[in-house]
Amino acid sequence: MKLIEEFARKQPAFVTQLAAVMLGRKPAVKVEFELNGRDYEDFIELLTGLNLVWFEHSPNPVRICYPTSIQKSVDAEVKALPWYVETKNYSFQRLFADVGEYEKFWEIMSEGEMIPLKLEGGTLNPSSEIVISKDYERLTNFLTQYAVAKTHRRQPQRSMETFDRILGTAYGYPECCTTKFAEERKRRKSQEDYLFYESIVEKGLVKTVPLELRVVAHVACSVQCQTSISLGRQYLDSLKEYDPKIHKIVVKELEKPTLFIDLWHQFTVDELMPEICGDLIKIEKDDFLRMTKRESVKPDEIMLGRINHIAFQYLADFVGLWWIGVDSRNAVLLCNAETGEMRLYKRHGDSNIADYRIFRYNYP
Ligand SMILES: [Zn+2]
Repeated sequence: MKLIEEFARKQPAFVTQLAAVMLGRKPAVKVEFELNGRDYEDFIELLTGLNLVWFEHSPNPVRICYPTSIQKSVDAEVKALPWYVETKNYSFQRLFADVGEYEKFWEIMSEGEMIPLKLEGGTLNPSSEIVISKDYERLTNFLTQYAVAKTHRRQPQRSMETFDRILGTAYGYPECCTTKFAEERKRRKSQEDYLFYESIVEKGLVKTVPLELRVVAHVACSVQCQTSISLGRQYLDSLKEYDPKIHKIVVKELEKPTLFIDLWHQFTVDELMPEICGDLIKIEKDDFLRMTKRESVKPDEIMLGRINHIAFQYLADFVGLWWIGVDSRNAVLLCNAETGEMRLYKRHGDSNIADYRIFRYNYP
């Protein structure tokens, strides 16, 4: 299977955004999921195969990476270091600013200049922050805006709001959403992402969320934000233009229901018919119904489903075949159909109106 197909199944929204970047319709895209071991190697292979450039910020210094195949177009000062010869064999080059020059790097960058970078071997090094762009020029432009945003954050009177605004523009987010997000960030304690999910519930669109909103990289100001919907459609059209087959995979993946326990526990569920699972199932539906009664959960929806992909390692134990009972807004009961392991999540004081639900997305 082609690497991009594999990523389309695991990270459909990201692959859609990546297509928009490749076609020059989005300035840059940030990786919002974890890459461990083999996944990271595959990811680098994907980026170099697509001739994309990226920066790594983990936590410092800043590293700028690009495929060896496009090296000639990149203007960088390469020092004759002993291992330089070896780097010729790498599929990508990694340039870095001296650690001691970390602050200077951002200072100079905020003026739109790039300081000379040293060549470092293209060894693999998982990073906490990766931002990808179509070419060197676009990446430099993004870094300049990032640098300007960073300078503002250091001045208390300018605050996070300016940081959010500048970065929002750098990533190509709609202004209405960036403004709303910046306001909400001030008001809530790291729960500003809820603003979009709350609007879904408030407008009664839990079963008919426009799928376009699942591929945008920002928090939409509302489920009815037309600018975000058109942006999402533009990204999906870019992917279709790039490769209709990948587009099909992505749409199929995104149309699957999302189990939303809370902001940090969201899972795409592959809904299954018990008949096709055969002997795998040790816990029958009737057993599960008895469990819901015992736990006083009154589900308005019960499904058998497989959770295949998780964005972060700490969620790894959610991968599996589950009976899922959702008592919307109040509770979610999970029982592993193969092992019988049970998990109960119930509403508490800090629960949000969007929690303990299944969201369904529709594509016209
Ligand atoms: Zn908006």
